[in-house]
Amino acid sequence: MTAQRRPLPARPRKVPSTVRLLWRGVRGRCPACGARGQYRWLVNVSPSCHNCGLQFERIEGHFVGAVGMNTIMSLGILLISLLVSIAVTYPDFPVLKLMLANIAVAIAAPLVCYPLSRMLWTGIDIAMRPLGPDEVDWAVVLGSVNKWVGHTDMNTDSGNSE
Ligand SMILES: [Zn+2]
Repeated sequence: MTAQRRPLPARPRKVPSTVRLLWRGVRGRCPACGARGQYRWLVNVSPSCHNCGLQFERIEGHFVGAVGMNTIMSLGILLISLLVSIAVTYPDFPVLKLMLANIAVAIAAPLVCYPLSRMLWTGIDIAMRPLGPDEVDWAVVLGSVNKWVGHTDMNTDSGNSE
């Protein structure tokens, strides 16, 4: 189900900042409006936002960047896991237990990071290539920004909660 899109107002007051786009993305929310529920069971990511109508695959091949983000996030988690497990068990390293534990982390991290990396990459993409006038329901997107800073005069029926 795609939300009905309303066009960009002639003079928008605020659009989501880069920090907000990235913060929403890293939490697995729609970067444009902050709506939750963009994926189920980690690997089943919705093609568009149910709240503002943003198509997450903005251009063909868009999610190649998400694969890169997933790799970076997963390797970061694995590095932290390795360093913590070595620090906790120093100086007597139970090599087999450490290997098994970190192999489990290496398998789980990309699966857990997959939807987050897709949303984060979409946020990075929006920061680099701003949203077009017909790409989202601007009343929802601007309402999510204005609600955050205390403005309530935008007429929105958004269901997001940030
Ligand atoms: Zn959205």
